[in-house]
Amino acid sequence: MRRLRNVKIVATLGPASDTYEMIRALHEAGADVFRLNMSHGTHDEIAAKHAIIRRIEEEVGRPIAILADLQGPKLRVDAFANDAEDLVEGAAFRLDLDPAPGDAARVCLPHPEIFAALKPGAHLLVNDGKIRLRVETCGPDFAECTVITGGTISNRKGVNVPDVVLPLAALSDKDRADLEFVCDLGVDWLALSFVQRPEDVEEARALARGRAAILSKIEKPSAVDQFDAILAASDGIMVARGDLGVELPVQAVPPIQKRLVRRTRAAAKPVIVATQMLESMVTSPMPTRAEVSDVATAIYEGSDAIMLSAESAAGHYPVEAVRTMDKVAAEVEADPTYAQIIAASRTVKGDSIAHGIVAAAREIAETTDIKAICCFTQSGTTALLTARERPGVPIIAMTSLRRTARRLALSWGCHCVMTEELTRFKMAVVNAARAARAAGFATETDQIVVTAGVPFNVPGTTNILRVAPCDERLIFSTDPG
Ligand code: PGA
Ligand code: MN
Repeated sequence: MRRLRNVKIVATLGPASDTYEMIRALHEAGADVFRLNMSHGTHDEIAAKHAIIRRIEEEVGRPIAILADLQGPKLRVDAFANDAEDLVEGAAFRLDLDPAPGDAARVCLPHPEIFAALKPGAHLLVNDGKIRLRVETCGPDFAECTVITGGTISNRKGVNVPDVVLPLAALSDKDRADLEFVCDLGVDWLALSFVQRPEDVEEARALARGRAAILSKIEKPSAVDQFDAILAASDGIMVARGDLGVELPVQAVPPIQKRLVRRTRAAAKPVIVATQMLESMVTSPMPTRAEVSDVATAIYEGSDAIMLSAESAAGHYPVEAVRTMDKVAAEVEADPTYAQIIAASRTVKGDSIAHGIVAAAREIAETTDIKAICCFTQSGTTALLTARERPGVPIIAMTSLRRTARRLALSWGCHCVMTEELTRFKMAVVNAARAARAAGFATETDQIVVTAGVPFNVPGTTNILRVAPCDERLIFSTDPG
């Protein structure tokens, strides 16, 4: 099965998409990556979804990436005696550590670390930012607030504290248990929620011990401020617009999205644009014009992947939502303006041989009639560098490591193909030509570009570029070595 689209689609699984039939339908409609949200569901439920995805992967013979999204230090108020209360603008409201049920005057916020970090003048946002409280006075176990924007507050609603860097561990005890569980299960990517500093990423990386790649969700102002260091510590980035738009003024999100997408691409790492992309499709089979435009914008900006959250996890039209993204992507990528924008935003070439080779591969592919760039990669780096070039032909990432193939499923334009361990370049060319033909990208009369590193299986040695025929007899008769 091949895709004719470069941007990847991430579909979050949930109650609307937990059966084999539905997950298979989502994959066929275009989902390349499945996201398991660790905020919901038991370990048994997560394992069941994981097993279904791996079964489908086996059946379709195409690597699929699984991304486990850790909940992170999500803050919540406790319960109310009446389940909910209306807070009126100008009223006083107290947060404290008293576990007694809340009322119209107070509620428990069971996070002592927050009180330690709060300062008068700081804002607390409740329920996706709908309610805004300003801290007037505070101590180690309380904060007296004024209601700046009123609304209904109810049991266990989420709290955001944008103005302060919270002295919170990046990973709660639940996150650590979840991380260990999903790493053992065999997920490919771990997404870290509410990353605040690069050390948060290092901590998760140490715990993952190479079992999964690390993707940082940018959803805190402090993460935006320290973005370059967080990017350097991460294998990938998610522009997590949901919480970002609560912690920062919502109009700040589009420029941040543009900057994050550009910088992450420049670092040759995958970037996902996420949240509310087709929100109305939770209940409607048709997206709004504005949503279609938002999806298109993320693609024009050069994102590696676009993501569905509630649309595929809990909506009424999960398959339609994936299909909508697929159709928008096809339209955008066929637009000559897209190619111009992508070319104009191409950045640094770098100073390694591998950089030179991937840039040359793209130029050759674009000046002559080349059908695909086939790159042999073990760590995935050469494929990532090739993807950063955003070439006008498909990238076939050839690897003997299943883990690498699966991780690359998130990256722009990468068609991942498993190959046996190679010892001779001639066999690499034969395998590449076969893969290009099998995927339907090339026929016997076509040519491809092949890049590889010799000796094989030594990481970081990309040093060969060959323009090769797809006809096997010709490969043998024209091969120099
Ligand atoms: P979430 O993260 O869906 O886990 O909250 C994404 C976001 O905040 O945009
Ligand atoms: Mn979030």
